[in-house]
Amino acid sequence: MGEATIIDGQAIAARLREGIADAVAGLRAQHGVTPGLAVVIVGDDPASHIYVRNKSRACSAAGIASLEHRLPADTSEGSLISLIEQLNADERVDGILVQLPLPAAVDPQRVLGAVDARKDVDGFHPLNVGRLWSRLPSLVPCTPQGCMILLRSVQIDLAGAEAIVIGRSQIVGRPLAALLVAADCTVTVAHSRSRDLAGLCRRADIVIAASGQPAMIKADWIKPGATVIDVGTNRVIGPDGTARLVGDVDFAAARLVAGAITPVPGGVGPMTIACLLQNTVIAACRRRGLAEPELA
Ligand code: NAP
Repeated sequence: MGEATIIDGQAIAARLREGIADAVAGLRAQHGVTPGLAVVIVGDDPASHIYVRNKSRACSAAGIASLEHRLPADTSEGSLISLIEQLNADERVDGILVQLPLPAAVDPQRVLGAVDARKDVDGFHPLNVGRLWSRLPSLVPCTPQGCMILLRSVQIDLAGAEAIVIGRSQIVGRPLAALLVAADCTVTVAHSRSRDLAGLCRRADIVIAASGQPAMIKADWIKPGATVIDVGTNRVIGPDGTARLVGDVDFAAARLVAGAITPVPGGVGPMTIACLLQNTVIAACRRRGLAEPELA
């Protein structure tokens, strides 16, 4: 077997972002609407600040208005919820994103539950979670949505495929399982208590790795020809003492076995922001009863 097709998330995300920019220009020209995204960040976690800056830049590039709310680490849950209520009522705001993690004193479920489900562009509100599992229109979490776009770029007919999702978080693993079931896959959700993970993986035509464990998934866990989507973003220190990003899959070895595989970086990462922009445009259209643009 030859080397795997490398799924170029950077290129696929760039095309999606171009389509979103065109859709936003159309909304402005035809309806005078500029979609708006409010991003709320609490505290001074450096990685979160980088993510928020990248999201704001991506909004500007697509013509989406972005409003940032940077709050100190000691912000109370009550005042955070009051801000969210203001944003729920603000006509300029189509999407509200609360950057996670929140400080320990704040209950993320109460905060996320306060977001108007129609503006919940992260797709974490219980109403959207329930609607996704019920196959009703919902706002779908961005990283899982991005994974499905990457998967479909190499494997159009997913019906009957055996898929394993390694990880069961609210943000990645669970919504991915819902999307794969909806796409007619036979889905296994594995986690830290699963037995014989290697054996479960070897059955899978599709492996989605979202455990946050660097290079945990070995080449001999991969069925020859399988599609591997690596969500993991792990910062490790290499032998030369410099930090680098690696996925959850042993990429160098797995690419010799898989049929298609995403790199880290340059795979799932760029799709997450593109899908956030897409959700903001979808939310802007739905709230106003406008037709949703065909994007991905
Ligand atoms: P998380 O909340 O820490 O969840 C990790 C999941 O993996 C948990 O369900 C955990 O099981 C499971 N797990 C941990 N160790 C395992 C093991 N040895 N064997 C099997 N399962 C194991 O992480 P997350 O937020 O879902 O993120 C997962 C990874 O994706 C991280 O590397 C994160 O940085 C990355 N990520 C990337 C993007 C992106 O845009 N590229 C977005 C989000 C996340 P238990 O439930 O039993 O604890």
